Amino acid sequence: MPTKVKVCLVLIVALSILSPKSAYGLNPPPNQVLGNDEQSAVPLTKKSGSPFNKNQLLDEISPATAQNDPTKVQPEKMRLITGLKWLNSRPKGQLAIEADGELSVNLSKNPSKNQVLIDLDFAQFAPGLSPPDFHDELLESIRLITLNSSQVKIEVNLNYFIGYYTESDTGPNQDQQSLFINFSRSPLIKKTVVIDPGHGGSDRGAVGRKGTLEKDINLEVALKLKDLLENAGANVILTRNDDTYIGLYERAYLANYLMADLFISVHVNSHPNPKIQGIEVFYYPDRRHGLNLGSNILESLTQQTGFKKLAVKTGRFVVIRETQIPGVLLELGFLSNQEEESKLKSIGYKENAALGILMGIVGYFNSFAMPD
Ligand SMILES: [Zn+2]
Repeated sequence: MPTKVKVCLVLIVALSILSPKSAYGLNPPPNQVLGNDEQSAVPLTKKSGSPFNKNQLLDEISPATAQNDPTKVQPEKMRLITGLKWLNSRPKGQLAIEADGELSVNLSKNPSKNQVLIDLDFAQFAPGLSPPDFHDELLESIRLITLNSSQVKIEVNLNYFIGYYTESDTGPNQDQQSLFINFSRSPLIKKTVVIDPGHGGSDRGAVGRKGTLEKDINLEVALKLKDLLENAGANVILTRNDDTYIGLYERAYLANYLMADLFISVHVNSHPNPKIQGIEVFYYPDRRHGLNLGSNILESLTQQTGFKKLAVKTGRFVVIRETQIPGVLLELGFLSNQEEESKLKSIGYKENAALGILMGIVGYFNSFAMPD
């Protein structure tokens, strides 16, 4: 019987080491990894750069040679990619890559497109191999590219992107391997999200000790979130997309007028006690789905940013009181705390915060999905 090996957990660890800022998990499923930039190298074989030393590596590749001459480095065995299939299933679309042995693969996401690149070293396409047939709204195209005599690339162009994770399946004699790249389906297709960057213009919001303005952080996070949501297939409207003042009632009115599916108000906190840290999320009392949405977002936001988890609370802020749709007001950290002010200013924090909010929104919509 072939043994099916899930590499997802290994993958998460590897991603965390290689690219801590870019590795992100999503739930459900809990082992899903969203690859969001070009640095997400995924060592699926025990090759250089992995935690295995050279001799161990040689022993596994060629035991006889390694015993005879442990200093002699053998080239890795060339693999032939014999088959490519696209499996149209729920909740994922799956690319199956079949080869005559273990593949050395690097996965990366093109940051400017919904494109995932699968780089395969020591591999060639079998003569006549062509991209798989498919009929799937997730997938736009697949291209096979031969880089040189020992490197090939598979370019997967998606119509939307929220993430991927891999699994492998080894045949009984190690001479057959299937590698599966699972692309998550987005629950955000045709959903309209209104993002409300708090304050703006003459209303600066909170001000940090180093002069950081809340209104600027709110807008920058909101713009990053907009891109992520749009990549995931959502329709996104901002209550402001520059440094202008918009009234609170106007913001809520816009969300109601558009009959949006979600309203996300982005803020940064302040407190007279400079020691107070963390993220808190507010929803209007008794408003449907507010607690579910807020809990999902708080969970993933704190996971992504490493900030302290305060709580999901009820609040009577105008923007969440007046919006007649599920909505939350996020407080992404305290500008009154010196450590958090420094982090809040950084691009990395803003990217992680946007990612955390996206993942919370995905988790929220997935919570309504029918189980498979
Ligand atoms: Zn605010």
